[in-house]
Amino acid sequence: WSSETIAVVTGANRGIGFEISRQLATHGLTVILTSRDSNVGLEAARVLQEGGLNVVFHQLDVLDHLSRKQFSEWLQQNYGGLDILVNNAGVNFNLGSDNSVEYARKVITTNYFGTKNMTEAMIPMMKPSTAGARIVSVSSRLGRLNGRRNRIEDVTLREELGNLDSLTEELIDRTVSNFLQQVEDSTWTSGGWPQTFTDYSVSKLAINAYTRLMAKVLSDRPDGHKIYINCYCPGWVKTAMTGYAGNISVEEGADTGVWLALLPDQAVTGKFFAERREINF
Ligand code: NDP
Repeated sequence: WSSETIAVVTGANRGIGFEISRQLATHGLTVILTSRDSNVGLEAARVLQEGGLNVVFHQLDVLDHLSRKQFSEWLQQNYGGLDILVNNAGVNFNLGSDNSVEYARKVITTNYFGTKNMTEAMIPMMKPSTAGARIVSVSSRLGRLNGRRNRIEDVTLREELGNLDSLTEELIDRTVSNFLQQVEDSTWTSGGWPQTFTDYSVSKLAINAYTRLMAKVLSDRPDGHKIYINCYCPGWVKTAMTGYAGNISVEEGADTGVWLALLPDQAVTGKFFAERREINF
């Protein structure tokens, strides 16, 4: 890896995204640290620059079409594209096993559609390389299909989402739309979702399914133009999202994401990881 390797990190002004940026830059890459708020983003980048790291700030709100467009144009003009995308930006308003109508839409939109928007925008800009370009999305074990506590009761839905042959973007979009409708109607528990499935869990389940699907879609790219896409759970991390109540540091929470982004000769794609090991979706 060298300063010629360009890594873009979303939601990088604080928390895990900031730490992923720091660790990637420590490996010698050029990191584009992005944030929806320019003031805090510039300040975050300045902290890393003062530590001698090759970090550049650009504004990016993953939900704002104009912001994504301006960012993409700037990235193309100044760097000719990118090698690594880390989809880290996310929100979570769940305090327990609740689903507030007000927040459910925001969580699904930011976490799932934000990740999807960025993945779609960046794929055409990924630079050819022998090592392959990489996309890493920060997900969560809470979105597992067959988790011990959160097994989806709707067998058809579980099988459809779990089966790569039947998985489509339309199915993932429909699943999150149906969930949102059920939250609005207060029928989400009777709709086959366990009590533990919050809007946050559904957003991460959608990211996981999208990761598997995109790995399949991208699999026929020729040598030199490969793109490998994976997601991971950072664990319960001490950040603003957990009220700093997590049980691991941001350094540990960022570790698997950085490892995935930098895996040498990475033929691994469409997988879900935690603590540098593959886990089940
Ligand atoms: P933080 O709340 O500290 O960071 C979230 C980041 O996402 C912030 O920089 C926030 O920006 C940014 N963000 C939110 N919405 C947008 C948007 N529309 N456009 C661009 N950026 C946005 O939380 P974490 O660092 O803990 O979370 C990072 C990722 O890790 C998330 O995807 C989260 O779901 C995931 N994760 C975290 C876990 C944990 O225990 N902490 C566990 C499992 C997964 P702003 O400062 O402007 O709000």
